[in-house]
Amino acid sequence: MTEKSKIKKRLCPLCSKSINNNNLNYYSKPWTLVKCDCSFVYMPEVPVYERMKKEFSWERNFDEREVITTKKRVRRFIKGILKRDKLKYLLNKFCKKGEILDIGCGSGAKFNNISNEYIPYGIDISEKSAKEADKVFKKRGGEAVCAPSTEVLDRFGENKFSGAILRAYLEHEHDPFEVLKNLKFTLKPDAYAIIKVPNYNSVNRRVRGNKWCGFRFPDHVNQFTPKTLLTMVSNANYEVVKFNFFDYLPTSDNMWMVIKPKQDL
Ligand SMILES: [Zn+2]
Repeated sequence: MTEKSKIKKRLCPLCSKSINNNNLNYYSKPWTLVKCDCSFVYMPEVPVYERMKKEFSWERNFDEREVITTKKRVRRFIKGILKRDKLKYLLNKFCKKGEILDIGCGSGAKFNNISNEYIPYGIDISEKSAKEADKVFKKRGGEAVCAPSTEVLDRFGENKFSGAILRAYLEHEHDPFEVLKNLKFTLKPDAYAIIKVPNYNSVNRRVRGNKWCGFRFPDHVNQFTPKTLLTMVSNANYEVVKFNFFDYLPTSDNMWMVIKPKQDL
C-alpha cells in the first residue's frame, strides 16, 4: 500500500458536508483538525481501518507517547478508580442485568470491577485488545470481536442488549453517527447507552493547546463539545436521560452522558 492509500478522507460526521481551509491550530503532521460550519471539530483525513488495526492500536500508541513517572502512575491509578466507579455507578443505576455491549472495549479490564450479572460483549478495532477482551468476556459468557463497529453491530441480532458502553470510543470512531444509528437495532427498547468522550470545551484545552490530553493524533478523529454531542445523539434519535452540568464541567477533560433509544410512536 502506498502512503496515500492508507489515508481516508471524510465528510463532517455531524452534518455530512465537506470542508475547505477551516484548519484549526491543533495538529500533528500530517494530521490536522478542522471546524465545520456546523461547529463540529474533526480530522478530515484519517488512517484507514486496516492501518489502525496494527499500527495505531490505541493502548500501544498511548504507551509510546510519554514516559510514565511514578507520580503520574499514582495519579492515573487514583483517576482510574474514580473513572471505573462512575461507569459502574451509571451501569447499575440505568442498565438492567443481562448482556452489555462495550464498543471500543479495549482489553476488557473495565469489567473486572463490574457485577457478573452483566455479560460483556465487545468490539475493538485493535487486534491485540480484542483478543485479550475475548478471553476475559468468554469466561463470563460473552465475547469480543475485532472489526469496525459499523460492520458488526447487526451481527449481534435485534433487541439483544440491555445496555451499551461507549467509553473513550466515539472520539476514535470514523462514523460515529452511523454507529449510534445502527446501535439501536441491537439494543432492547428499555436499554441505555453510557457515553464518555473528551470535552473539547474544557478549560484545559484552552490552556494547554496542542498538548491537551484530549488530542491524540491520529487516534482521536472527533472532538465533541456538549452541544455537538447533544446534536449528534438527538439526530440519531436518542433521548438524553442524564447530561447535567456536572457531567460536562468546563474544568473536566471529559464528559459523560446517558441516552436511550427514542420509541417510535
Ligand atoms: Zn458539519
